[in-house]
Amino acid sequence: MRYAVISDVHSNLEALEAVLKDIRKRKIEIVFFLGDAVGYGPNPNECVEMLKDRCKVLLAGNHDWASLGITDIEYFNEYAKEAILWTMKVLNEKNRKTLSTFPISKVMKKENILFVHSTPKEPEQWHYLLTLWDAEINFHNFDQWICMLGHSHQPFVIEKFPSGEMITHRREARLGKGERYIINAGSVGQPRDRDPRACYVVLEGERVEFIRVPYPVEKTQKKMSEAGLPLLLIQRLSEGT
Ligand code: ZN
Repeated sequence: MRYAVISDVHSNLEALEAVLKDIRKRKIEIVFFLGDAVGYGPNPNECVEMLKDRCKVLLAGNHDWASLGITDIEYFNEYAKEAILWTMKVLNEKNRKTLSTFPISKVMKKENILFVHSTPKEPEQWHYLLTLWDAEINFHNFDQWICMLGHSHQPFVIEKFPSGEMITHRREARLGKGERYIINAGSVGQPRDRDPRACYVVLEGERVEFIRVPYPVEKTQKKMSEAGLPLLLIQRLSEGT
């Protein structure tokens, strides 16, 4: 078992390129994508195409579904909504078709892993999994050894022991066969843990590691500002919030 898991690219081409380059440097061949290719950033078409070329499994997230008109945009705050309306105008037909083929969850039988964008419980409702209480509820909604997800842009590993006790790991973890896990891959294109570097996960044997990759944030910000995307979305990239 050796692969990379990436999530929440959000049309940030510079961050995606930096992460894929880092994955190449580590000679990791298999890449899984957990959804939200578009929304927020200035390069939706390029990101969908690059992800499609590189990833073995691709999921859709709430911003992807909203950009396709599947999820109601009233679900989103005003800034996200504005970026989705912009994305709807810019996304070409070919990439709309590509995005519409992505499921919102997928079971990997051989690896015994569930991939989902939001949560194992009612994935189409786009709930957030933020607390140990949320984790407790969601552990009852999948049977696999590991659930890997994105959506909150907060990287973590929640480990549940056979006794029921749970602990959270933030940087790396060792996977045991008797325990079960919920792993959030963080976000490539809009990290929200006060570290503006792009984030992804490497799974290698029993080891899970979060990798942080710097990218030229100002370049993305300049393109966003030229596209007329909301200032708050531009500023948060350099703050990692
Ligand atoms: Zn997202």
